Amino acid sequence: MNDLILLIDVDGTVIVPRDEVQDDQGPQFLEHRLLALMCELASGDAGMNRQEAEQRIRQHFSEKTWWEWEEFLDVLGLSPATFWPIADADGLQYVQPRDQALASCLQQLKDVGYRLMVTSNNPVCGIRHKLRLAGIDDSRQDDLFEQILATSVIEAMKWDEIYWQRVVKRLNVHPSQLIVIGDTWHDDVVMPGQVGIERRLWLHNESTDQVAQQLANADTTITPATSWPEVVAMLCRLGSSL
Ligand SMILES: [Mg+2]
Repeated sequence: MNDLILLIDVDGTVIVPRDEVQDDQGPQFLEHRLLALMCELASGDAGMNRQEAEQRIRQHFSEKTWWEWEEFLDVLGLSPATFWPIADADGLQYVQPRDQALASCLQQLKDVGYRLMVTSNNPVCGIRHKLRLAGIDDSRQDDLFEQILATSVIEAMKWDEIYWQRVVKRLNVHPSQLIVIGDTWHDDVVMPGQVGIERRLWLHNESTDQVAQQLANADTTITPATSWPEVVAMLCRLGSSL
């Protein structure tokens, strides 16, 4: 154990759109698919008409800010055990792991002593769904990740400084023990930096010029990377230098 905690983002970092899927589907595409599937199943098996299903979903959204997907299943009378395998099969048509070696990269990081946690603008069961789409099943998730710092747990979004303040407080560690790994400049690099988390691995998709431009005025503790094997190599070097 090296006492360092990796805070790992999900969308764009562990899963990306499949090559054949248009990227213009938008970042919330998988969430819209989940809602559409719920409505389909509720109006099929559960015998509810579609309008009523949509109305119940809208109602729940208006009542709860920090919700879990399973609450929507509950208001629609759907069973999680039936729903998630269908949702997983559906989601696999649209996304894939960012790297085919993702699961073994995460295992390697854990094996060399890093503590792994998930940070994402998703509720817990949405994160679990997406990790399964990245090829990491539930029992492997339990084995790899110590905590899932979901929006439903932290009650804030990553683009808000308060999310990162709460993460630091919840983990009860000095920010120097934390390393953020994520693809979004604002959420995964700028915001954690505001609360004193200096080490950030920016897993980007930008051109060399754009990266140079972005880093020109940024601090030196931001490390750009383009793949998970590259992240593992950097972190293994860091781990052995401590
Ligand atoms: Mg992301």
